[in-house]
Amino acid sequence: MRVSVIGAGLGGLCLAQGLRGAGIDVDVYERDPAITARFQGYRLVLSPTGFEALHGCLPSRWHPLLDAIVDDTRVERLILDTQLNKVGELGPARSGLVVDRHVLRHLLLTGLDVHTGAALTGYDVLDGKDGKDGEAAKVQAHFAQGASPAPADLLVGADGVNSAVRALLTPQTVPTDTGVRFVIGRTPMTEQFAALSHAWGAKIAGDGVSLLLGAMRFGIPPKQAAEELAPEVRLPDTGDYVRWAMILPPNSSLGEETPQQAVLSRIQGWHPDLRALIEQADTDNSTLLSIRVVEPRERWARGPVTLLGDAIHATSPTGGNGANTALRDADLLRRSLIPAAAGSRSLLDAVGDYETQMLEYGAEAVRFSLEALPAYVAKP
Ligand SMILES: Cc1cc2nc3c(=O)[nH]c(=O)nc-3n(C[C@H](O)[C@H](O)[C@H](O)COP(=O)(O)OP(=O)(O)OC[C@H]3O[C@@H](n4cnc5c(N)ncnc54)[C@H](O)[C@@H]3O)c2cc1C
Repeated sequence: MRVSVIGAGLGGLCLAQGLRGAGIDVDVYERDPAITARFQGYRLVLSPTGFEALHGCLPSRWHPLLDAIVDDTRVERLILDTQLNKVGELGPARSGLVVDRHVLRHLLLTGLDVHTGAALTGYDVLDGKDGKDGEAAKVQAHFAQGASPAPADLLVGADGVNSAVRALLTPQTVPTDTGVRFVIGRTPMTEQFAALSHAWGAKIAGDGVSLLLGAMRFGIPPKQAAEELAPEVRLPDTGDYVRWAMILPPNSSLGEETPQQAVLSRIQGWHPDLRALIEQADTDNSTLLSIRVVEPRERWARGPVTLLGDAIHATSPTGGNGANTALRDADLLRRSLIPAAAGSRSLLDAVGDYETQMLEYGAEAVRFSLEALPAYVAKP
């Protein structure tokens, strides 16, 4: 069996690792010209489900390294004023495993030969009958540049919120813009910022905007952890940092300002440590993002093409569940495909079972994230 995965995000790479480990041939195609072409360095909170899915897809010899690059944290979720005084609570305290997305992505890339600069533009399902006796259909992907690869038995659209695969497979399923915009960035950790620990997980409420802070701390630097625990893995030399995100008034744009200037101009008179935090941010690592969601709608026709992750159920980051759900998809699809690759069940039945479960919990993940959104949006 040969599987083409479109998109080298967390979900697509996790699936590719899982298939590779199961002895299934897999090719990954990524639109970006290079793996590190974009800022992807924010931290993620992994749920037990997401973490278990990662464990399931990664070789067991890397599990000690995976365990070493996550930070086990517990945060009180307070509402603070701009001088960092407590004025309320955002919800119950939350614990989880924090991981840096950039570091995790490098672990997931290890040993995979990703075709970069490969933006999918279309695919053809080639004649064939799926079934016990007949020849299964194949799928031929087409890319903006370069020759088309050999046909695959299954094409998986793991190509994110703007999925080109989704647009072809289920064109009625389109992203919805919530209107919420935020600037995200990060600042190297110092003693001054480490002292802001009561603000991790908090919402700092200002005039029409709110600032959210979270810490990424590595027990052991990821590069060193890889050298000691899994020498074939190369992880980036990333230090501890504070991730900050400012939620802006609906439909904001930055005009001529850089993301960092946009935040500074909105926090005049705020606590000096907060201003220093933004002033000392990595200039290369901040950006404006909009919150769009994809809610799975109608089921598409059975065939050798399916979807995974944000491509079919993009959540608001306020749910903290988008990556976790993409990883869950990857592990579920991997487990579904193993008997199909062994010839003990039909590929279409395996994919159909995956889709039935994934569409149900994916829709629930989007609903949950949208319910969590209003608490984070600043009151004008
Ligand atoms: C600020 C922020 C914080 C977040 N925090 C959390 C968190 O704490 N916990 C959590 O669970 N989730 C979190 N999320 C959500 C999480 O990042 C996403 O849900 C997750 O990355 C989705 O993975 P994916 O593989 O489906 O898609 P993506 O990671 O978006 O990957 C899609 C890939 O496909 C590529 N691609 C796109 N189009 C094409 C094409 N035509 N051809 C080829 N390749 C293509 C893209 O370049 C990209 O590399 C957060 C998101 C943001 C923005």
